[in-house]
Amino acid sequence: MTLSLSDRADHITQAEIRVMTIECERIGGVNLAQGVCDLGVPPEVVEGTVEAIGQGVNSYTRYDGLRQLRQAIAEKLRLFNGLDVDAETEITVSAGSTGSFYCACLALLNPGDEVILFEPFYGYHVNTLLAAGAVPRYVTMDPPAWTFAASDLEAAVSPRTKGIMVCTPGNPSGKVYTREELQIVADFAREHDLFIFTDEIYEYFVYDGRTHLSPASLPSVRDRTIMISGYSKTYSITGWRIGYSVCESRWADAIGYVNDLIYVCAPAPLQLGVATGITRLGPSYYAALCDAFRRKRDLLCSTLADVGLSPMVPQGAYYVLADASRLPGCNSKEKAMHLLRRTGVASVPGDAFYESAAGRDLVRFCFAKAEAELEEARDRLRRL
Ligand code: PLP
Repeated sequence: MTLSLSDRADHITQAEIRVMTIECERIGGVNLAQGVCDLGVPPEVVEGTVEAIGQGVNSYTRYDGLRQLRQAIAEKLRLFNGLDVDAETEITVSAGSTGSFYCACLALLNPGDEVILFEPFYGYHVNTLLAAGAVPRYVTMDPPAWTFAASDLEAAVSPRTKGIMVCTPGNPSGKVYTREELQIVADFAREHDLFIFTDEIYEYFVYDGRTHLSPASLPSVRDRTIMISGYSKTYSITGWRIGYSVCESRWADAIGYVNDLIYVCAPAPLQLGVATGITRLGPSYYAALCDAFRRKRDLLCSTLADVGLSPMVPQGAYYVLADASRLPGCNSKEKAMHLLRRTGVASVPGDAFYESAAGRDLVRFCFAKAEAELEEARDRLRRL
């Protein structure tokens, strides 16, 4: 037989996170490789969904989402992100932010186009670009503050570069980009005529008085920014697959057609459930969410500091990269495996987030876990 996989499928390897999860389950450990919010779905979101099903909202929706959800998102963008957006033409609801990014890539990138990513990166960004035939280029940020210079961007650009990705707050770094940093990215994108793709899925998870800033809110790049976000994390509904992109209609039209082709639409009643949540939940919900995750962050980071795995305390999102140089092993995989065997706590090897060798001495922990689980992890990590 001469049948084979596509070149595309050859690129897509099983995520390291799944490998660690399987190994952790095998030994009955505590899985900090992967997390899901334990706070539960807000009742308003559940009620809105149940009402929608009862009222017969069970068919295909318009390809870019139900009007009620697009309008709710537009209002949220105005109040929270400082963006004035046309709900009719500039918002495309998709199957999670993952779906939104995939549709944006297919609509806006040609095979061979290069897109700059900051590393440490979120693996789906790389793999989505590869699946679209695009070529990722990397700019390595310096820990612990995950800084970069304008000259780093210049070193990564080429005549084939068509975009740059900004994930703020970042997974796995927890980096919350400052206005100054976003201005550097904006000036760079304008000078080289690039799209700015954003991933703002953790926009409500920011700590220590920081605020989330949407790159699209910088007026000079509003026209070239494809903002992407969603409700998986904010409402603990990772399995519902509700995300969205926001951009000028000349891009949104094409993104919408691709969305129609791949997903037809996001699940109809779940769209209304999220719309109900956005409309009914006030600022106190988001403040409590943030506070709960800050406590979890502090619990995990103080544990890691105690056992000599120095944490790079995250400014946002719900992951922490820790310095694993004291663990035996030639690379981050061996170090993470040592930690798992010795303590029963699973992490993700830092190399999973880097193309360069800079992840060799890092491991990533997730603190989107019940407090009891984080305490169990603390007790186990003390065995080090
Ligand atoms: N973007 C980042 C940075 C993530 O960490 C994740 C999930 O871990 C996602 C996107 C997935 O979002 P969604 O469920 O909206 O596809």
